[in-house]
Amino acid sequence: MKYVDVEKIKKDFPILNVKPHGKKLIYLDNAATTQKPIEVIKAMDKYYEELNANVYRSPHYLSALSTQAYEEARERVKKFINAKREESIVFTRNTTESINFIAYSWGMKHINEGDEILLTIAEHHSNILPWQMVAEAKKAGLKYVHLDENFRLSMKDFKEKMSDKVKLVAVQHMSNVLGIINPVEEITHIAHKYGAKVLIDGAQSVPHMPIDVQRIGCDFFAFSGHKMLGPMGIGVLYIKEDLLSDVPPFLRGGEMIDEVFEDRATFAPPPLKFEAGTPNVKGACVLVSAIDYIEKIGLSNIHNHEGELLEYGLQKMKELDFVKLYGPNDAKERGGLISFNVEGVHPHDVATILDEEGIAVRSGHHCCLPLMRYLGVPATVRASFYLYNDFDDIDALVEGLKKVRKWFK
Ligand code: PMP
Repeated sequence: MKYVDVEKIKKDFPILNVKPHGKKLIYLDNAATTQKPIEVIKAMDKYYEELNANVYRSPHYLSALSTQAYEEARERVKKFINAKREESIVFTRNTTESINFIAYSWGMKHINEGDEILLTIAEHHSNILPWQMVAEAKKAGLKYVHLDENFRLSMKDFKEKMSDKVKLVAVQHMSNVLGIINPVEEITHIAHKYGAKVLIDGAQSVPHMPIDVQRIGCDFFAFSGHKMLGPMGIGVLYIKEDLLSDVPPFLRGGEMIDEVFEDRATFAPPPLKFEAGTPNVKGACVLVSAIDYIEKIGLSNIHNHEGELLEYGLQKMKELDFVKLYGPNDAKERGGLISFNVEGVHPHDVATILDEEGIAVRSGHHCCLPLMRYLGVPATVRASFYLYNDFDDIDALVEGLKKVRKWFK
């Protein structure tokens, strides 16, 4: 464990003391949601003990404090993903809401009959269903880039499917099933040559690697706080600065207006025009604590640590001849998760037996049914890592899988 001090980190996460079925908790479901360090848990109380008031609205002391903390959170997130301007950072509930935001606002305005939306076959439902809605409403086409023989995104297929008809490329940065990390910089560069806009689903990348939206060059970027040590209910939508006036509001209501008449309204400047109603101020403030924690450890260290775990995990699991792995063979081409199946055993049964050993993994279609069909499997088991996992956790998983095998043989 040369990149992070896992023993020290584990002590910061009280939930790791929970004993499922009397066993030590081995939490390997980080792609679904991550656990929270004590600093983040304390920040939730701190907000309600010291800062709580509605933002922007009232001229009193607490409202000023709360507004200041909320705007500081925006500034912090801007720096975290290296956006150019605070106005580009919109707080939402999660990745799903961020993508729906762009579909309902920008998509419904700019995508028209005969246009195309280009996705990848590995997308999460959150980055498929909103575009199905736009395609159906606007009579636009929906196309999917396929994978190559090594389960990587086929750039050849991407280039063949790009054309002047494509108005939007919506692609995940990292797959929550295969772990592949897509070359989003290159994808954006090519898409822009055709005049298409690019939306990146960063739900699985932001928690695990340094992100620079200016370097990627994308137009929209979405992620969730809860997958990066933060609380549930806070997400981020990044909108590139030159598109801010081209994106209409998604929701309409309080605090996002300039003037309201009986028959019409004008809107406040961004980001306020994108945040109707009382926002999740506590969520945004607590997200800052999560970012502080992540940056204290260092995203490059986290990424390298997970790379070590992945390499070790892939090697150990390849030794189990009854386990089938999905995703590229080479650990260097992917992020810290492993999807697999145990020969002759339903993924839910695998996960249930592992749970009896205290090992938390996910089983199912992982909200990626088109990918499951493409892979020819109904479901997989997924073990996903984070900064508090170590080699012992992987050894426990491997021993658990041997038990599964014994049980069903
Ligand atoms: N995209 C990807 C790649 C994901 O893994 C997830 C969460 N599993 C989402 C989108 C949706 O995230 P949320 O549920 O936080 O909106």
